[in-house]
Amino acid sequence: MAKRSATTAPLAAKWRKLAEGRCAEKGERLTPARLAVYAEMQARGRPLSAYELIALLEQRQERKIAPLTVYRHLDFLMRTGLVHRLQSAQTYFPCDHPDHAHESQFLLCSSCGHVDEVESSGLETLLAQIADEHGFRPDNAVVEVKGLCGECAVGVQD
Ligand SMILES: [Zn+2]
Ligand SMILES: [Zn+2]
Repeated sequence: MAKRSATTAPLAAKWRKLAEGRCAEKGERLTPARLAVYAEMQARGRPLSAYELIALLEQRQERKIAPLTVYRHLDFLMRTGLVHRLQSAQTYFPCDHPDHAHESQFLLCSSCGHVDEVESSGLETLLAQIADEHGFRPDNAVVEVKGLCGECAVGVQD
């Protein structure tokens, strides 16, 4: 049987183009291995821990993958803004709008694991203002709101 070490999850042309664009902008190269990690995350459409991601990649590529390699690819994907790290859950999630730099705000469903990435310039301004009032210089203003997504909340009301 032929070796299938380069197997990559299918990735919509839209995301591939965005990923290539981000990398070009940052002067980085989207290698097949980096693309494979990104495609796997997009294919799942939910936050994954590094270990879940490694297991999925190993399954697809039918070979062992060193965790350090995957961490390096994740660092790359975060550096280029293609992937966010959800700090409270220690999982990784592909950005919904990687075409521009932004602070990250997430609504995390604690029932089904769904994540909504939202963008609020009002919230960013408010956070900057609060920090300023405290003479604080933030370098990371990630907001993670936990609760129930629309669908799960409906289930609770019934
Ligand atoms: Zn984002
Ligand atoms: Zn939910």
